[in-house]
Amino acid sequence: MTTLLWFRQDLRLADNPALVDAADHGPVLPVYVLDEEAGGWALGGASRWWLHGSLAALAKALGGLHLARGDARAIIPALAKKAGANRIVWNRCYEPAAIARDTALKEALAKDGFAVKSFNSALLFEPWEIETQSGGPFKVFTPFWNALKKRTPAGPLAAPDAIDLALLEGSDSLEDWALRPAAPDWAKGWSTLWTPGEAGAGDRLAAFLDEGLCGYGEGRDRPDRTHVSRLSPHLHFGEMSPRRIWYAVHQASDRDPALAADGWKFLSELAWREFAAHLLYHFPTLPQENWRTAFDAYPWHDDATGLEAWQRGRTGYPFVDAGMRELWQTGYMHNRVRMVAASFLIKHLRVHWREGEAWFWDTLVDADLANNAAGWQWVAGSGADASPYFRIFNPVSQGGKFDPDGAYVRRWCPELADLPDEHVHAPFEAPASVLEAAGIILGKTYPAPIVEHRNARAAALEGYEAVKAAKE
Ligand code: FAD
Repeated sequence: MTTLLWFRQDLRLADNPALVDAADHGPVLPVYVLDEEAGGWALGGASRWWLHGSLAALAKALGGLHLARGDARAIIPALAKKAGANRIVWNRCYEPAAIARDTALKEALAKDGFAVKSFNSALLFEPWEIETQSGGPFKVFTPFWNALKKRTPAGPLAAPDAIDLALLEGSDSLEDWALRPAAPDWAKGWSTLWTPGEAGAGDRLAAFLDEGLCGYGEGRDRPDRTHVSRLSPHLHFGEMSPRRIWYAVHQASDRDPALAADGWKFLSELAWREFAAHLLYHFPTLPQENWRTAFDAYPWHDDATGLEAWQRGRTGYPFVDAGMRELWQTGYMHNRVRMVAASFLIKHLRVHWREGEAWFWDTLVDADLANNAAGWQWVAGSGADASPYFRIFNPVSQGGKFDPDGAYVRRWCPELADLPDEHVHAPFEAPASVLEAAGIILGKTYPAPIVEHRNARAAALEGYEAVKAAKE
């Protein structure tokens, strides 16, 4: 009998437990359903771009993939009946809407006589497996990481040797879904930056282990260097399993013990991803609501002009602008710059973190409900184990520290390319003669700062008084 294999955020063949299970039981109908409602978090533009490439790569690797669009709760049973399948399998997703949908669907399918099985493929451990000693969820990262480190994740599974495909007529065409932009094609050139799909993920991991891992601990904070893995979109779409990364890093450190410290640092970053999934599982309102409810009292500022300047990379603070332009032009922003740019929106402009979360959701190729919500609430100070609200990043000194020669800023803000290093993070403090020599007219060729750092900082801290006065 045929098994219907429902692909979701697991778009790969290797270490895919649902695929292994399906292939072991006879013919397989592989299905992907484009559900555009997705519990209020419809795919953003950059994610749609990625998904197109990932599905094309998966269909090619499998030899065929049935595509359907609409409500999975109706589509999956209908396709299973049409295929004469008696089993339905998938790998679990952990977003609140996905959990609700899958639980209801599992019940309905079981009532209809289907055998239904689900697996973990997205995380090192299930979000409920790591618990405090008293049996509850962790709210602080370090003890979570200490608990995770004591366990050994299951070893990655090999891709099945052979898959007996049982394809149906009537699949949608990927092109008809129009996931990629046409007019205008704002993602022009992205195919030279990214290779969605399992093979691209494997190449990325191999390149990182060869060139990025050594020195990651220190280099990961430098956007002007190439020490990060850029595996985040591959992880989000499940083209690479975290277990495979875990074991590959250990093997690299076993071969070269000098890599051990950098290896553990990298794995601890991977554990932040697990922590975010853990938080979202236990606190499903994380994407919408302040985790620390005292932040409900914060006097947010309704500033459409400031928000737009931030989105366009025109705040007048080069480190922030470089990050926002990197995001717009590539679908990615380096983590250090994400923190500084997010802090600028929340603290310098006092715009609600949800506005930034929504912009990132639309523009990041790695947009991920758990990581994005946890990241924004961490910066806002409203989240679990968050950065204290009163720690307000100074975009000028952050630039000077993490992009000391201004190479990152010059790359994304080319109009500042001719400024000497000491002024590249604060053109507004450069003498007129220096600006003139660099061909810069502030307010014309590059924006004047939209807020003054010291005043903005004071206003943010004043707003924080309301949080301090509010009860949790
Ligand atoms: P590496 O340094 O190579 O890290 C390896 C992997 O570890 C990453 O691919 C990622 O899966 C995980 N990881 C690293 N740092 C974090 C972190 N702080 N939180 C959770 N996981 C982490 N990450 C997303 O994947 N999707 C998002 O939507 C997202 N939104 C963010 C929003 C804000 C405001 C902030 C501050 C961070 C956000 N992050 C998000 C986390 C982090 O910035 C990215 O995971 C990281 O920059 C991805 O680049 P990389 O793969 O080169 O990272």
